[in-house]
Amino acid sequence: MEEYINEAEHLLMHTYSRYKIILDKGDGVYLYDIEGKKYLDFGAGIAVFALGYGNTEYNAALKAQIDKLLHTSNYFYNVPSIKAASKLAAASGMDRVFFTNSGTEAIEGAIKLARKYYYKKHHTGDSQIIAMNKSFHGRSMGALSVTGQPSYRVAFEPLIGGVVFADFNSVEDIRAKINEKTCAIILEPVQAEGGIYPAEGEYLKEVRKICDEQDILLIFDEIQCGMGRTGSMFAWQEYGVKPDILTAAKALGCGVPVGAFAAVEKVCQAFEPGDHGTTYGGNPFTAAAVNAVFDQYEKLNLIEHVKEVSSYLELSLEEFAKSHSGIKERRGKGLLQGLEFEYPVKEIIQKAMDNNLILFSAGSNVLRFIPPLVITKEHVDEMLEILKKVIE
Ligand SMILES: *Cc1c(COP(=O)(O)O)cnc(C)c1O
Repeated sequence: MEEYINEAEHLLMHTYSRYKIILDKGDGVYLYDIEGKKYLDFGAGIAVFALGYGNTEYNAALKAQIDKLLHTSNYFYNVPSIKAASKLAAASGMDRVFFTNSGTEAIEGAIKLARKYYYKKHHTGDSQIIAMNKSFHGRSMGALSVTGQPSYRVAFEPLIGGVVFADFNSVEDIRAKINEKTCAIILEPVQAEGGIYPAEGEYLKEVRKICDEQDILLIFDEIQCGMGRTGSMFAWQEYGVKPDILTAAKALGCGVPVGAFAAVEKVCQAFEPGDHGTTYGGNPFTAAAVNAVFDQYEKLNLIEHVKEVSSYLELSLEEFAKSHSGIKERRGKGLLQGLEFEYPVKEIIQKAMDNNLILFSAGSNVLRFIPPLVITKEHVDEMLEILKKVIE
């Protein structure tokens, strides 16, 4: 293992401080490293592997598509992408879909669509987007421009212009930042990387109202909180506040790199042929993955399962927080949960890994719990037992 890690440290760019683990295979909600050590996975490849590892029908669907046709190009139609678009549109309540290769590209597309909508109305590109402090939307230049965490941004400025930041969950701050140039408001219904902060219901309703009154587009980034993680297919459905543009990725392909932005018809009308494109996006292979994912969600009745197991996780974390000192609070929705500590959690995470549990952080003081959606109550108990041992 050490030899491989040394080689990696010479070959790969130093953009990550990786844990000294080389993962090799997965089975259900467990991962194994190349030396056979077993880990309970409460990270799911950063909220990606919703179905758990080794779902045979999902795997079979991918294998079949590999043997048939991997890629065509967007000069042609392909059946898997039509079916995937139909499923995503139905699940998200949006009318049209554009498939991308990642989350950050979905954000790029959403920004371009919002700007084009404004441009068609005002015949100028001099518009503004309101984004949130503590948000995370990705690493490409446009997505970084709407990411409200200075540490990710400063070395890469100037980013794209026309972005102003508001405090999350503050209607007053949105009102203060709106002007005649505002074309869109972008937010995560549950802020994930920024520390697991769910939006307040009244806040989202008020933001929706403001957007309707002033023809401002509301963009929900559901790349992490979507695809069933919070207990409904997309978090907006739980809040009863529908966006005009929605982004998805992470669990959308469950390990196959695919993202999407989708929108309601009046917004989609802004795009014309030539406005946007991608070589890979929506190719038969990634679309087959999206189809298999939606099929498995239905077959496993996964949303209902998430509701049940997540209320158990929430209660257990709540109790855990009360019975241990140094924990400030539990926050989150569904299987997107966080425990905020009074101190950095880096050491807890390392010791959890030593003790066969994979956990991530969300900011320096917050432990993040984002397991595969198929976990059971027994897995929750197993996780807490390890965590208890580590903390004590
Ligand atoms: C992960 C994430 C992104 C970026 O997705 P990538 O696939 O890493 O580019 C954007 N928004 C949110 C909310 C995310 O969690």
